[in-house]
Amino acid sequence: MQEIDGAAESTSIPVTPESHFPIQNLPFGVFRPRSGGTPRVGVAIGEMVVDLSVLERQGLLDPAAQPANREPLFCRSSLNAFMACGRPLWSEVRERLSQLLRHDEPRLRDDAELRREALLPMSDVELLLPAEIGDYTDFYSSREHATNVGTMLRGPENALMPNWLHLPVAYHGRASSVVVSGTDLHRPHGQTKADIAPAPVFGPSRSVDFELEMGVLIGPGNALGEPIPVDRARDHIFGLVLVNDWSARDIQKWEYVPLGPFLAKNFGTSISPWVVMLEALEPFRAAGPRQDPLPLSYLRCQRDEAYDIHLEVLLHAAGTDEPVRICTSNLRHLYWNFCQQVAHHTCNGCNLRTGDLLATGTISGPSPDSRGCLLELTTGGRNPLALPNGSTRPFLEDGDRVSMTGWCQGAGYRVGFGEVTGKLLPAIL
Ligand code: CA
Repeated sequence: MQEIDGAAESTSIPVTPESHFPIQNLPFGVFRPRSGGTPRVGVAIGEMVVDLSVLERQGLLDPAAQPANREPLFCRSSLNAFMACGRPLWSEVRERLSQLLRHDEPRLRDDAELRREALLPMSDVELLLPAEIGDYTDFYSSREHATNVGTMLRGPENALMPNWLHLPVAYHGRASSVVVSGTDLHRPHGQTKADIAPAPVFGPSRSVDFELEMGVLIGPGNALGEPIPVDRARDHIFGLVLVNDWSARDIQKWEYVPLGPFLAKNFGTSISPWVVMLEALEPFRAAGPRQDPLPLSYLRCQRDEAYDIHLEVLLHAAGTDEPVRICTSNLRHLYWNFCQQVAHHTCNGCNLRTGDLLATGTISGPSPDSRGCLLELTTGGRNPLALPNGSTRPFLEDGDRVSMTGWCQGAGYRVGFGEVTGKLLPAIL
């Protein structure tokens, strides 16, 4: 893993080297204290949550460029108002927070009353969905994933469809069923048809799967009819989250022709609660795969729009004592980057809005253990995963918990995403 040299910044809050939330990260989320109160915006640091509504009320975050009488941004149940403000304000707030949390800054460090009010142990809060997500689009941007799935469907000669290397393929998903990490989901019912069966049947899916993905939350949107150029796309991206795009493969196989995924996907999509800003990921920018053929000009951008984010999937199978790591991948494998996804999504004038979620599609890598879903890991269920307790998994069983985590490794610190986790509950009868 790449080691990034970073100034050894330190904070007045204890943070271990393995923590996902050092002062270099400062991810935003929405929480509610378990002791009661309304939802509000917070930032994670170490094992603590900083209540930004308190800091804002005390005038500790007031950005110079903003009028003093503006509406509060952080005493809210979503990040949307803040995300709509754009990068200059985001950067200023991030800078102020960073200053307040420094070890040599007495304002917060030495004010016991302020610390009591503004710093809560992570275990004392409930993390909520960070944004009001109006629209959700899921891309299909990993060449390895598209190739592996295409090979199963059409054979190795025709694995990639003719359009795949020319545009970032996607479908419009369902925002209403995007849930925050920790939300358990029931096995969905649906219509399926076995290859040899004469007719379809209705019942619980027998091949529920996960998909290891990441996603961006859109900050300022664009007006209808006004595309976002690829070299301005970063201005519209607030930050990144982990995404588990739960999938019912048997429902998908029968329903997807000819218009694509529908009920196989929209029974639930889980995202991690902390949104990591692009600023925090800047030291971990990396070159993505070489694109050949060269994309059309509206999709051409620098190669270093990829990020070196180590990703893992852990399966805690029902009836077993411990989770098992079943996949290790990296966001940098992604063929189409977020800027290209934003540019393509809006090239026809389609308007993105603040809070929209754009997910990458399953992030598979070149090695067998980097395949980001069971469909690939088990070759369509034909080679089930062998678990340490002797049981096997072609697909998920009731009671199985899937957790995904990811982080960038710096020198002595990590900029991480925490986790997105969820358990598959039995179908509702
Ligand atoms: Ca997907």
